[in-house]
Amino acid sequence: MGRLVMKFGGTSVANIDRIRNVARHVKREVDAGHDVAVVVSAMAGKTNELVEWCRDASPMHDAREYDAIVASGEQVTSGLLSIVLQGMGIQARSWQGWQIPIRTSDAHASARILEIDGAEIIHRFKDRQEVAVIAGFQGINPQTNRVTTLGRGGSDTSAVAIAAAIRADRCDIYTDVDGVYTTDPRVVPKARRLDKIAFEDMLELASQGAKVLQVRSVELGMVHNMPVFVRSSFDKPEDIDPHGTPPGTLICSEEEIMESHVVTGIAFSKDEAQISVRQIEDKPGVAAAIFGPLAEANINVDMIVQNVSEDGKTTDLTFTVPASDYARARDTISSAKAKIGYARLDSATDVAKVSVIGSGMRSHAGVAAQAFTALAGRNINIRAITTSEIKFSVLIDAAYTELAVRTLHTLYGLDQT
Ligand code: ADP
Ligand code: ASP
Ligand code: MG
Repeated sequence: MGRLVMKFGGTSVANIDRIRNVARHVKREVDAGHDVAVVVSAMAGKTNELVEWCRDASPMHDAREYDAIVASGEQVTSGLLSIVLQGMGIQARSWQGWQIPIRTSDAHASARILEIDGAEIIHRFKDRQEVAVIAGFQGINPQTNRVTTLGRGGSDTSAVAIAAAIRADRCDIYTDVDGVYTTDPRVVPKARRLDKIAFEDMLELASQGAKVLQVRSVELGMVHNMPVFVRSSFDKPEDIDPHGTPPGTLICSEEEIMESHVVTGIAFSKDEAQISVRQIEDKPGVAAAIFGPLAEANINVDMIVQNVSEDGKTTDLTFTVPASDYARARDTISSAKAKIGYARLDSATDVAKVSVIGSGMRSHAGVAAQAFTALAGRNINIRAITTSEIKFSVLIDAAYTELAVRTLHTLYGLDQT
């Protein structure tokens, strides 16, 4: 007997039939004798619809009201799943973030979990074998008493945080793919499912665009050393052997992984925009004059490339920002033009970032060089490059994203045979 968190994403609870299917998965674990806390997302498409309604109501809306609205999708699914479970004779109740409570920061729309009190849930496991059905994505700020949300994809983070709070043995993330693949299997049909992946590699994959897990959930898994298992909710619950190992991917510490490849996977993101500041004076303080105002405007800068000045007088600086922040970033730099001192701004929004990830890169040289040759062979122009210990990224024209990902996937021997 153990204690489990089971998280179901939007497509897994997209309608009442799918919620019934989820309930059968839950029943399977309850029948096997486990204490179960379930975390649910909103029905597929629901959060997008709610976000759209907020924008429609007013483009400059109050972030606290935005959270009150978008948190409602999860309230519905947690109640529905509880009703279906009760109908199957399973003791269950729904919990909203504020009821547990899941205490978060007050950064509305991207709040961080500060603390979760798991005592009552554990008490009810012991006292009445009750399944806790928890609305993902939401929490409450203790100072303001207002509902908060954790950023898109945040139910993954709710699940791992709850798993840590109730000292679960494992956190199962049920989704619409049967694990973490070497790259998005919807883009590269030859992508291979990984049996295991280290937290560090998963963290990079998620932060570079693989949306299968929210980045913060992986960080929490790593901090709490909580095994996270990604698996499919579409498998028939009746076909799963409760004592066997189902198909899926275990995210765990590096030491638990025997097989090691130099490259673990490839991620990509089309949510990028490039801004080039031309002919800036090459003198101390210029980078600060550019990035200071961007930081103040809360704009996340990702890749930064600065040329070495040819004439000792002026140079060019290129950086990327999320596409959604592009207009603000451009305005911010334009407003600071007098202070920065530059000739002109060039920009591109039809760009994508492709990242190659692998902790094996720490001990292997020349991994990136191979990629540059392969991309050149496909006539793909590289606009910018960044590298770190276990990954490198290239910025390319968005139209070549799929081609670049497939080329690199084959190059590093990741294709399914
Ligand atoms: P959920 O609604 O269950 O949270 P998401 O849509 O957030 O599901 O995440 C699952 C999706 O992530 C998959 O459908 C897949 O297209 C995408 N994905 C991107 N990269 C990967 C990867 N490396 N492995 C598996 N899935 C990936
Ligand atoms: N429903 C939220 C979203 O769509 C949270 C989640 O599904 O994880 O972003
Ligand atoms: Mg998700």
